[in-house]
Amino acid sequence: MSDSPLENLPYNSPLQPIKLDLDNKIKFRCHKDIACFNECCKKIDISLTPYDVLCLQKHLNLTSNEFLSQYTVPFEMDKDGIPGVKIKTADDNLACPFLHEDGCGVYEARPTVCRYYALGLMSMRKENAITDENSFFLVKEDHCLGHNEDREISVADYRTEQGVDEYDEINREWRQIILKKLSAGPSIGKPTPRSLKFFFLCSYNFDSLLAFIQSDNFAEVYDVSPEEIEQLGNDDIALLKFGSKLLKQVLFGEMSIAVKDNALQKRVQRRREQIQADPDDPNANYNGPEMV
Ligand code: SF4
Ligand code: SF4
Repeated sequence: MSDSPLENLPYNSPLQPIKLDLDNKIKFRCHKDIACFNECCKKIDISLTPYDVLCLQKHLNLTSNEFLSQYTVPFEMDKDGIPGVKIKTADDNLACPFLHEDGCGVYEARPTVCRYYALGLMSMRKENAITDENSFFLVKEDHCLGHNEDREISVADYRTEQGVDEYDEINREWRQIILKKLSAGPSIGKPTPRSLKFFFLCSYNFDSLLAFIQSDNFAEVYDVSPEEIEQLGNDDIALLKFGSKLLKQVLFGEMSIAVKDNALQKRVQRRREQIQADPDDPNANYNGPEMV
């Protein structure tokens, strides 16, 4: 059996077992007059990235809580329960809630997965490498007639056409966290329920993230100027990226946000007191760097 995950695909997988680079060309075009128009939105399983959530929430003029409760369902991304969110479909019907007869009702804010289709992305980081390596592959499903269209386009140009670069750039740090968490194994310890909630907050609930950053709890630990906090309140993308930095700090101890003197010791002391008061606290068994 080959070591390449793409060569080990089941025989009926829609993923084509050919690795593509940015310069490679694909034959594909999707447009409103194609016979299969909207077919791909009728049976969906779409995971959302932080920037997807932010763009959709803004496009629909909803708060984070409103968007998350109306349009998403939670799922676990790994055996430790790292939380993800997917688009919520009706129980007996897997159609996208944003699908209208004339197409996608949130086209300008459509999620990364919809932008990528019919390309798939595979990100890997080799041991000791500081950057991820991205490869692409073609997804060919029977219902999709876009592969029969007479247009060749490079992977790079297709990404530009679909606006994928911006989404990938803004989600980059968050994706690195997922890759690192999935490949770290038990070395970083099992996240506590508190850490998992914090992951959700930093990744998807931007209103609550901002409220946390503006809170006394945050000010007790982190050394961030009032000007920077004000700026985070006015700049959604900066807030999203700050959330990813916070996550790296909390999950992996990467100290990219300044911490006040003795803040960690005070927190650890308070946590010890909580554990002494309640030894069955599920947050008690975590060995990783936790500052929330
Ligand atoms: S968000 Fe738009 S493009 Fe994506 S599945 Fe829903 S309707 Fe289709
Ligand atoms: S060509 Fe493919 S991506 Fe476009 S509408 Fe048809 S099924 Fe969907």
